[in-house]
Amino acid sequence: MSSFCELCGRKVIDEKKTVLIDGIALNVCRGCSKRGKPYTPPMSTSKTKPTASSNPVARSTASNKSTSTTRKIEMMDNTILNPEFAKLIREARMKKGLTHEQLGAQMNEKANLLKKFETGALKPDELFAKKLQRFLGIHLYVGVLED
Ligand SMILES: [Zn+2]
Repeated sequence: MSSFCELCGRKVIDEKKTVLIDGIALNVCRGCSKRGKPYTPPMSTSKTKPTASSNPVARSTASNKSTSTTRKIEMMDNTILNPEFAKLIREARMKKGLTHEQLGAQMNEKANLLKKFETGALKPDELFAKKLQRFLGIHLYVGVLED
């Protein structure tokens, strides 16, 4: 670190100044600094970058956290039609003392369909199965567990 004026070569006693003379930054004494333009180091331009980009990042991570924790509960409705559905339907219907025709009339469905379900010849679709569950008070769907 030289403490000599780069313009006049004099020893700088007090404050050394950096000025632009013909586009070149020079460390000069106070007297010579009047001959150049005040020099601003390039550091000041990069100062604005980190503060501007750090704000939106902090905001988005905070909002992500609350949405991810409530997800696990919904995975439970992994259910299938009970393979014993034929037996379940017949037993429930007989318990109520209904014929196929009577139950069919109550459900507004064909007795023939009920007969086919009870023999296992036909599988009720989801809508029909839920209807049967409601009318007969049975559970036709079972949860799927790993076997
Ligand atoms: Zn000087």
